[in-house]
This record gives sequence, C-alpha cells and structure tokens, in this order.
Amino acid sequence: MVDLKVLLSEEEIQKRLGELAREIDDYYQGKEIIVLCVLRGAIYFMVDLTKKMTTPMQPDFIRVASYEGTETTGKISILDDLKEDIKEKNVLVIEDIIDTGYTLKFLKEYLLEKEPADLKIAVLADKKERREVDVDVDFVGFEIPNKYIVGYGFDYNNTCRNLTYIGYIEN
Ligand code: 5GP
Repeated sequence: MVDLKVLLSEEEIQKRLGELAREIDDYYQGKEIIVLCVLRGAIYFMVDLTKKMTTPMQPDFIRVASYEGTETTGKISILDDLKEDIKEKNVLVIEDIIDTGYTLKFLKEYLLEKEPADLKIAVLADKKERREVDVDVDFVGFEIPNKYIVGYGFDYNNTCRNLTYIGYIEN
C-alpha cells in the first residue's frame, strides 16, 4: 500500500462541493443541463457534486485516452464517446483535474464542434503552476500544489480511487 499524506480531508472536499454546487445552480438558474463526466477519475466528484445541486440534469460520459508525460501532447483521443446529442444544449463538463491543460483543451474544441448552446467546465482540482496551454475553466474546487494526488477518483496505477480523501505521495 502506498504511503499517502492527506492533502484534502473528506470534510473539506464535501464542504467545498456544497459551495460549488450553489455556484453552479446560481449560474444555470434552473435551466436543464447535460452533465458530461470525464471517465474515469471524475466519477466520485460528479456523483457527490450533482447530489448537492438542484439544476435539472441528464448525465452522460466520455472517456479520453490518458497519456504519459507531455510527449504525447496533441495525441489525446476519445476511447468512449458521449451518447447524447448536445447540439443547442447546455453542457457542463466534469473533469477531475486540470494539469498541463492539454486534455481539457482538446475536449473543449471537440465538444464545441457539436454546437452546444453553452459549454462550461468544472474541475475538482487545478494544478495551476503546471499549465502549458490556456483553457478557461469555469468552476474550480481547489487550487492544489504540484504534487501527484491520489484518492477520491484520482488513481495510483488505477488503484486507490475509492479513498474518501485526497492524499499525495511525498517525493
Ligand atoms: P492535463 O491534460 O491537464 O495535463 O492532464 C489531465 C489528466 O492528467 C487528468 O485527467 C488525470 O488523469 C491526470 N493527472 C494529472 N495530475 C494528476 C495527479 O496528480 N494524480 C492523478 N492520479 N492523475 C493526474
């Protein structure tokens, strides 16, 4: 078992998600949305966040290829596509983290081609200092330091996703 230090406790995460849910509800003002969860990391965030929201929503999912390091920049591809037609719909993308920004930049351009009425992005964690490309993110749970985080959806070799807190591996 990997040795983790706690970065964000379960209580801190759930409290912030309550605040974020109110921000998002205030933005949509009761309009119906499609919540597009980016698999696999964002599932815990998506479930807990949407349970705290009142905005009427339909869930959908998309899975993009993960990559190692930044050498594969621009080579992000869709492994499982979304099922809903999002043309003229309000879409809220739910992603676990924005790091270099390449994944969300790719996804945003891909989704905008489908002509949604409105496209917004929510991320649980933002590792700002690692950003290599500019992407506007509309709702951010936490700005975090440049550490490899694990738990609450974030994996360590595809394990540890079901931890209730977010930990990090001390280098
Ligand atoms: P980006 O394209 O913004 O560099 O990377 C986003 C993806 O990198 C995330 O969806 C996630 O899969 C992965 N990632 C980035 N930082 C971390 C981290 O600290 N922990 C884990 N488990 N995955 C990360």
